[in-house]
Amino acid sequence: MQTNPEIVLSLRDVAVTYGEGKNALTAVQHVNFDIHKGETFSLVGESGSGKSTIAKAVLGIHDTSSGVVNFEGAQINGKLPAKQRHALDRKIQMIFQDPAASLNERATVDYIISEGLYNYHLYDSEEDREKKVRQMMAEVGLLPEQLYRYPHEFSGGQRQRIGIARALIMQPDLVVCDEPISALDMSIRAQVLNLLKKFQEEEGLTYLFIAHDLSVVRYISDRIAVIRHGRIVEVAETEELFTHPIHPYTQALLSAVPVPDPQLAQHKQLIVYDPSMHHYETDKPSLVEILPGHFVWCNKAEEAKYRGELAGLAG
Ligand code: ADP
Ligand code: MG
Repeated sequence: MQTNPEIVLSLRDVAVTYGEGKNALTAVQHVNFDIHKGETFSLVGESGSGKSTIAKAVLGIHDTSSGVVNFEGAQINGKLPAKQRHALDRKIQMIFQDPAASLNERATVDYIISEGLYNYHLYDSEEDREKKVRQMMAEVGLLPEQLYRYPHEFSGGQRQRIGIARALIMQPDLVVCDEPISALDMSIRAQVLNLLKKFQEEEGLTYLFIAHDLSVVRYISDRIAVIRHGRIVEVAETEELFTHPIHPYTQALLSAVPVPDPQLAQHKQLIVYDPSMHHYETDKPSLVEILPGHFVWCNKAEEAKYRGELAGLAG
């Protein structure tokens, strides 16, 4: 473990609201986390918990209603000068859930992968651009003869490879992957995950990875934030989270992960989470560092209880 990791992205008390007045919906609030250079930091939570909302706030697709988003040391939420926005749109790339919907159906693969290069003039000559695109094609496992084909001629997995090529050819510092394998066939999910891992190892990329599937998150992540109902309830390193979940919601979520061994599965206990167990009327909760690098959303009374349980485990 690094002692002083370089922080690429940090969110401080971020909230995002959709709509206005009577129809206003605060989709996420009190969002706090840091992402370290070169790591995969995952957001995991049920559908509707606010994962994509956080991604959109990071990408500047949707405004925050409060809090601060810092990227490489500079604040990036709120109104930005056009030049800074343009630079950010290259440095932070996105890989979408649905590669079918996110690719321009009328454009060839060559154009789709080149689009960012054109927009940012990231090539010296036409030859140089072609070389970059061909290299990228090979890196994601597509063939040179597929260069002038259209998205509909590809399978879902291949289309996601095009989406990855289009994002990574920009040499981003941060890649936001919003459920990048959820729409793909089971049989090819691992291939796409491994491709993302390969790029990370080769390029030192930093990922904000979003998923609702815990086994995927366990496989890909260095650290994980569990989100429920627009709030981050727990943040920890992957193995720490899976072996010592502290927040009752995390415990419930983990208890519902299927166990492949039928014998073990028989003894597995499903934990049910009851949100009414918390009493936050006067003793207010916040994200507390219970163990080094292990944060839990709790109030003073719960913090004392969790610490007591941990002391019991240690003793
Ligand atoms: P997730 O990605 O975890 O499934 P989202 O971030 O998409 O969750 O949604 C979080 C909450 O915000 C949900 O209640 C959703 O209905 C609401 N929401 C998302 N996008 C919008 C929008 N554009 N307008 C209004 N409400 C939205
Ligand atoms: Mg989503």
